[in-house]
Amino acid sequence: MRVLAIGECMAELAPTETQGDYRLGFAGDTFNTAWYLARMHPDIAVSYLTAVGDDAISQQMLDFIAASGIETRHIQTAKNQTVGLYLISLHNGERSFSYWRGQSAARQLAQDSVALRQAMDRSDLVYFSGITLAILDTASRQNLLDAIQVARANGKTVAFDPNLRPRLWTDTLEMTAAIMQGAAVSDIALPSFEDEALWFADADPQATAERYLAAGANTVVVKNGPEPVYFQQGETAGTLAVPALTRIIDTTAAGDSFNAEILAGLSNGTPLTNSIASACALAGRVVQSKGALVSVDRSEFYP
Ligand code: ADP
Repeated sequence: MRVLAIGECMAELAPTETQGDYRLGFAGDTFNTAWYLARMHPDIAVSYLTAVGDDAISQQMLDFIAASGIETRHIQTAKNQTVGLYLISLHNGERSFSYWRGQSAARQLAQDSVALRQAMDRSDLVYFSGITLAILDTASRQNLLDAIQVARANGKTVAFDPNLRPRLWTDTLEMTAAIMQGAAVSDIALPSFEDEALWFADADPQATAERYLAAGANTVVVKNGPEPVYFQQGETAGTLAVPALTRIIDTTAAGDSFNAEILAGLSNGTPLTNSIASACALAGRVVQSKGALVSVDRSEFYP
């Protein structure tokens, strides 16, 4: 199986133990999912589609992506540009994030419709998010949605995490409209209830699932932090309890790592409830460590 993840990977500056010192890393929602997928499932061919610049940090990012076992052939290089950056600040144990991504090369990832279609032709499962849609201008967003729609019509499976981030959108109406356009070209939606309730006024996870099913998805898995995961697949619906954890260190990439196990399950034909259990196990491990990319060992989960 071949998975194509589409979106933005950014440079990350994270504080170290030494005051004023930062460590350089690389992360971003769909990229994190691709990274966990490659790490946990070496049998799945994972490719990342984005655009980077032509400077040293862009090259370092490409090297990191390749070294993570992720294919880079669909990463475009934009002349005289660079990648987005975010910096993590720690204040009394609370993390806050500052972003410099308004001009990032990744904003150009969907300008070339032919390149998009070629990349999707070479994959079986296409994965994108609301953040992928948010960073694109209107024309590029339409290019991407059109290409995904064609891919789906050609038998590719399409998975979508709405990942609502109002700060990346001009206004919330533009955000909610674009998210539902994303849902309309997707087979599987992987929303997080807290965000959905806030921006779509869903009364409960079932309402979230029903909205995505009505938009055109056939499978919806609704994440809800420590609360049970709600799923609906065709006529089958249910909930799965999340194993309780006593010590949460950092919830960054909880949803992204969760999604990786769902995508793996789709690729391998695993029953959805088994994939959700694996997703909870991986996400549960990720929230007990610092950072987006936690060096988990596959053998912990698949002995
Ligand atoms: P997102 O990161 O997209 O907001 P959630 O916060 O809903 O996603 O979390 C995704 C998954 O991570 C949950 O379904 C659960 O498996 C795990 N998780 C997150 N927070 C906790 C927690 N406090 N306790 C146990 N598991 C958690």
